[in-house]
Amino acid sequence: MMTEPTQSITGRTDATRHKLPTDTDDGLLVIVSGPSGVGKTTITRSIERSIPGAVFSVSATTRQPTPADVEGVDYHFVTDETFDRMVADGDFLEWVDLFGKKYGTPRKWVTEQLARGRLVILEIDVVGARKVKQQITDAFALFVLPPSETVLLERLRARKRESEEAIRRRFAEAQREIAQAREWGIYDRMIVNDDLDKAIAEAVGAVRDRSRRPATQ
Ligand code: 5GP
Repeated sequence: MMTEPTQSITGRTDATRHKLPTDTDDGLLVIVSGPSGVGKTTITRSIERSIPGAVFSVSATTRQPTPADVEGVDYHFVTDETFDRMVADGDFLEWVDLFGKKYGTPRKWVTEQLARGRLVILEIDVVGARKVKQQITDAFALFVLPPSETVLLERLRARKRESEEAIRRRFAEAQREIAQAREWGIYDRMIVNDDLDKAIAEAVGAVRDRSRRPATQ
């Protein structure tokens, strides 16, 4: 993607600076986070469809598939044993344990896609986003916010997927994620999903602008 050396934050040019195995000059890593019920997946998939060369990174997880989940499309569903072996083998760029279920981003696949100049999208939580940003500082991170906490609670209830107790737990988790996203300062853009079409346009526009810019500026 980049044809000329550009100034990096280290003060050296890309042509001369020491490259870490996880560094990338070519592709662009885009992180999308946000609490559940906020329209994050719809926004992520819209970015994937709207930007040529964009690919979605399929995480591995130990959680059970829901009827809507497709193996290899939404996740790679694996056993705890397999997941632990993958951790030991260093297969993950990052991984987290959320309520006893593990989720991890495939390191090799992501690195290969970036080396090919692809725009790789990770839909991961705030803790995972922070771990990725520490390794790939050029990653572009978006956080999708609900218009308000009241609206988020209403949306979680409207999905009619879970018990009130589970909804309450997700809501508390959402509040924690939003607070961390603000505190940690790892997100380049916060997008409020008040109107889904507008939020999609804003997210796609932000990623498009970022992908046209040299990576280290
Ligand atoms: P769900 O079980 O609802 O599909 O996902 C739960 C949470 O895990 C979501 O916030 C989702 O973005 C996050 N997630 C999915 N895959 C990964 C991953 O590979 N790493 C991290 N850190 N979070 C993930």
